This record gives sequence, C-alpha cells and structure tokens, in this order.
Amino acid sequence: MQVENLTVAQLEAWRDHIEAELFRREIEQRHSSGREVVGPVLHTPVGTMREEFVDCGKDRCKKCANGPSHGPYWYLYYRKDKKLVSKYVGKFESRDEAVDKAESIRS
Ligand SMILES: [Zn+2]
Repeated sequence: MQVENLTVAQLEAWRDHIEAELFRREIEQRHSSGREVVGPVLHTPVGTMREEFVDCGKDRCKKCANGPSHGPYWYLYYRKDKKLVSKYVGKFESRDEAVDKAESIRS
C-alpha cells in the first residue's frame, strides 16, 4: 500500500484506527494488573470504556482468592492534557446505561 495514493479521508480513518489501538494498548499496559476485562472495549465520544472484574487487594478476601472477582464494573478512559485518565463508572445491566453515566461524568 502506497500512502501517497490514499485520499485524505482514508488517511484520517487510518489515523483514527491507529490512535484508538495505541490508546487501547496503553490502557492495557497501565490499568490491567489485578483486573480481568470482560466483553468488548468500546470507543465512545466521551472516551474508551471497558467492563472489568477487579481484585480488592485484601489478603483474606474469599471472592478474590482465585483471581479478580468484584464487579464487573465499567471504567472510562480518556486523555486530559495528554495524560491517561481513568474513571470508575459503575455497575450497569446495559451498555447504554453505562455510556449515559460516562457522559454525565465527562460533562
Ligand atoms: Zn476481594
């Protein structure tokens, strides 16, 4: 593939894909210890969202004895002044409810 032959729209679409993937990997590296991600990672207008089981870190927690098992809770990730910000969104039955809550957190 010759980048010179691509249209601006195609290049912008690729840039968006690449930025989203780099962001997903940065979240993966920095926010995944003691966590188990369930379901797909969502790219929403307010940020990247994913549902996670978390390890509470307490020594005697029976729920966590065999791995992270609190949740799953939704988390929102976005950039502020180039820094990766992570926000707890909560536990929701539906994806739409979680996205609504995330929008209220960002506004
Ligand atoms: Zn626990």
